[in-house]
Amino acid sequence: MEIQTNRLDRGFYKYQQEFEDAALRTLRSGWYIMGKELSSFEEQFAEYIGAKYCVGLGNGLDALWLAFRILGIGSGDEVIVQGNTYIASVMGITINGATPVFVEPDEYFNIDTDKIEEKITAKTKAVLVVHLYGQASQMDKIADICKKHDLRLVEDCAQSHGSGFKGTITGTFGDIGCFSFYPSKNIGAFGDGGAIVTDDEALAKEMRIYRNYGSEKRYYNKVVGTNSRLDEIQAALLKVRLKHAHELNEEKQAIAAEYDARLNNPLIELPRVREGADHIYHQYVIRCKERNRLMEYLKDKGISTIIHYPIPPHLAQAYEYLGHKKGDYPVTEACADEVLSIPMYNGMLKEEQDYTIDVLNAFV
Ligand SMILES: *Cc1c(COP(=O)(O)O)cnc(C)c1O
Repeated sequence: MEIQTNRLDRGFYKYQQEFEDAALRTLRSGWYIMGKELSSFEEQFAEYIGAKYCVGLGNGLDALWLAFRILGIGSGDEVIVQGNTYIASVMGITINGATPVFVEPDEYFNIDTDKIEEKITAKTKAVLVVHLYGQASQMDKIADICKKHDLRLVEDCAQSHGSGFKGTITGTFGDIGCFSFYPSKNIGAFGDGGAIVTDDEALAKEMRIYRNYGSEKRYYNKVVGTNSRLDEIQAALLKVRLKHAHELNEEKQAIAAEYDARLNNPLIELPRVREGADHIYHQYVIRCKERNRLMEYLKDKGISTIIHYPIPPHLAQAYEYLGHKKGDYPVTEACADEVLSIPMYNGMLKEEQDYTIDVLNAFV
């Protein structure tokens, strides 16, 4: 049996008619950028997250760097972020000239809240929280630390659409929540897409200016902005996804529960979920000391897997200039050596999961 890590086609066929209707409606409307599909998506997404404002953008990276830009965080400033994140989180900081300060993750793969305060200096301006793999971070503690030290709080929710901590949805704990709608995300477009959410009217207004060449009024450019707009067709398609977001997350949680209950190989560590945190399983990430051998074994059996992420940002060539070396962040580096994302997608068939479980349990 051949099993992919993800099957985006399944996600499409699940609501094929609705997607096709939305796409055709947009194509026939004659209006393709910054129209009523976008504004209605922004309203619906803000409501879903529980934020006052949503601003649609071109992708998740833009959401991140523009968030720091409008918060005025740049050269000479430091931003605290977990070491084991996707590189985009870090680029969102460094594009603005600010310096990322890495903190090791905890056993849930999220930022270790006991290690944040020791990294705060006079230059620290913000904490960027990443709800990695879909599990909400420990937001009560993080929000307290930010309040105590007067730091901005930005959330990277690219993997946590609808995931909450103690009943509050991620993206609403701090100043700005940043989202990606890359096709594989829990709410995914059919191309690139992103957004920010905020309760601050002034920040939402600033973001609308930045995404459209720095202009509020056509041809009057207030700041050097960028071109980062969420297309009408993507917004229309995203409204379909959004309508089914709850059931799509529940389906993934049910697949995870099945893995949790039936994977029983002592060589494999299953993902843990913190008390009070939701996990929407953007990825189902296991750990194994012999990860590379396990990955090869699975490949031989027709099961493809992905490492999220094999090279931690502090060791990326792009960040050589920060001067970090191997061994600086041992917990982060152990994650990079041991994690493996196994097949997990909407529309996964029972026989596909049964086979995956049997093969994983038979690894010796
Ligand atoms: C996907 C992702 C991003 C970037 O989103 P793009 O839309 O691909 O630019 C940022 N942060 C995290 C944690 C992600 O998973």
